[in-house]
Amino acid sequence: MLIHEVTNREVELPEILNTVGRVADDLGLEAYVVGGYVRDLILDRSSKDIDFVCVGSGIALAESVKKALGKKANLAVYKNFGTAAINFGDFELEFVGARKESYRSDSRKPIVENGTLADDQNRRDFTINALAICINADRFGELIDPFGGLEHLKQKLIKTPLEPDVTFSDDPLRIMRAIRFATQLQFDIDSDTFRGIVNQKDRIKIISQERITDELNKIILSKVPSYGFKLLFTCGLLETIFPQMQKLHGVRKVNGKAHKDNFYHTLQVLDNISIATDNLWLRWSAILHDIAKPATQRFNDKVGWTFHGHEDLGAKWVPRIFKKLKLPLNDKMKYVQKLVKLHLRPIALVNEEVTDSAIRRLLYETGEDIDDLMTLCRADITSKNPDKVRRYLANFKKVENKIKEVEERDHLRNFQPPISGETIIETFGIKPSRVVGEIKSAIKEAILDGEIKNQEEEAFQLMISLGKSYGLSPKSN
Ligand code: ATP
Ligand code: MG
Repeated sequence: MLIHEVTNREVELPEILNTVGRVADDLGLEAYVVGGYVRDLILDRSSKDIDFVCVGSGIALAESVKKALGKKANLAVYKNFGTAAINFGDFELEFVGARKESYRSDSRKPIVENGTLADDQNRRDFTINALAICINADRFGELIDPFGGLEHLKQKLIKTPLEPDVTFSDDPLRIMRAIRFATQLQFDIDSDTFRGIVNQKDRIKIISQERITDELNKIILSKVPSYGFKLLFTCGLLETIFPQMQKLHGVRKVNGKAHKDNFYHTLQVLDNISIATDNLWLRWSAILHDIAKPATQRFNDKVGWTFHGHEDLGAKWVPRIFKKLKLPLNDKMKYVQKLVKLHLRPIALVNEEVTDSAIRRLLYETGEDIDDLMTLCRADITSKNPDKVRRYLANFKKVENKIKEVEERDHLRNFQPPISGETIIETFGIKPSRVVGEIKSAIKEAILDGEIKNQEEEAFQLMISLGKSYGLSPKSN
């Protein structure tokens, strides 16, 4: 069957496929595009990563393709892996010879031999990833679909080509990939395949944390990430790879009073925020915002369930969780930590008679990240009662307006006190000392409290009078 007959729309195969096909013809090699590119072509998700398989040497094919494409193509050869890559404009082309694989129990790295296209398709993870299109001139566009991948694309189904237990035991990373593809494509996982995942989930221990986290991040960056987390939870893997999140699950009841299920609440917040942002780290802050709720949970007869301090404890856990998950321990982590720590602050401003001072303090502490904090807070408004949600959102809008007003008036984003330590030292003719710091911080506090304007002249006057209280007077010059 030709690829053009398969889809109900015009599929345009890029010229590069003809070029590679012609080069393969010259070398007398059978050549195909396979895997994700073919899948995405049929799903109408455009992609510039193209994987080629030939029956023979992938490196030899790549070297000839490079010659045919000329100067604009950059070739990299990975002799140890028997693969080569060409970067050509937007395209990333990968070349490999068809291979047959066999596995040992202690590693996901298979023993590799040369093989046929069929061998190569057999080693692939899912039926929808095992599709190939021939690119040799006489068979150009022919679809080779040994496992019904095309049908599964139509049914929106993730299914392994071979026995699921074997597929997942051989390479347990495929468990994460199954859940990731299901989430990205919004597909179901076939029930036998899912049973295989459940049976083999403990094999995940042979997979490096980096690879697991890589897949987890792809789940998080999907349109509706909660689906992936529900699959991880249901198959039992969440407990292994992210126990703190698993702990959010469940509801306790005392004297007839229950609290929200924090797992499903967190997933709702994550889905909400995913409508507003593609920022992975803002999405991570949604995942982690209530992470310490189970640890701080108390029951009190008067007020019911409380989670006092969960924002501070959660922020404290962030580095630990990032380290365990091999997420970067840099400014991204600090950013998530800050948002977790501050996530209740804007909401608190809804309830109180809001003072400018409270808003100035929040602006000072969030700096550049105030908009992201507001996005997180807005996503955090969840309830089964739509009236309640509407009311909260309306209140929240008021806080947002107030913040905007104060910000525009006082220019507090990335606020730096208008008097520097050097000015204090210069003015009073003193040495760097504790007093300098104290005066500087008193000026900052006075601005945040609204006692003086965020302006040099007023700050200078305050500095002079603060100096007096320390027995300092301006040096005359
Ligand atoms: P994307 O690039 O969007 O993540 P993809 O399907 O292209 O999706 P890659 O990781 O680029 O995924 O892999 C390319 C192809 O290689 C896959 O389509 C699949 O056929 C095969 N493949 C990749 N990883 C595995 C694996 N762990 N086990 C079996 N086959 C795999
Ligand atoms: Mg790919």
